[in-house]
Amino acid sequence: MPVPLPISKAHDRLIDDMIVTMKKAKGVGIAAPQVNVGLRLFIIAPEPSIRYGRWDPRKYRGAFSAALGHATGIVDEGPKAPKMSPVAMINPRLVHHSKKMVTDWEGCLSIPGLRARVPRYRSIVIEFTARDGRRLRGKLTGFVARIFQHEFDHINGMVYVDRVKDTRTFMTEAEFRRRLTPTLSHRERAKRSGG
Ligand SMILES: [Zn+2]
Repeated sequence: MPVPLPISKAHDRLIDDMIVTMKKAKGVGIAAPQVNVGLRLFIIAPEPSIRYGRWDPRKYRGAFSAALGHATGIVDEGPKAPKMSPVAMINPRLVHHSKKMVTDWEGCLSIPGLRARVPRYRSIVIEFTARDGRRLRGKLTGFVARIFQHEFDHINGMVYVDRVKDTRTFMTEAEFRRRLTPTLSHRERAKRSGG
């Protein structure tokens, strides 16, 4: 169900609660259906962590500064998780996507302890209503585009396991950590994961 606009106080509080829940779970995104609310609403907030590799601030400086203000500022160019304040995306829409797809690791707060490799569009053009009521449009690539697509699936009643092409890539979180340490480069990690 679309979020009625302008956003109500109750829904504004819901966003705060979702951000708290996401941070507690050390997640990089959370969708309303994951907290049993049937609204077209999610939060995305990639943070550097052991699960997603290290963040190089020189590489990403400023890339997200406009994320909350100007839609065109939301750009991620790389496999490593950039630092990004939580952004609530209300009634989001996937406007356009690249033909090219990229396969990489995903997990989900609703499916604890499991990871697998999931193909996603490399770049997407998206639209959403921000918390302040403005309708924004922007291009996302790389890791942030992946998070958007993961959360967008949640509000459409899907989870990442529905999109896994190679089921042999399913592994436990513990096994994932053991095999893919953050000291390896992304390319090395990809190689060692067996592709
Ligand atoms: Zn999820």
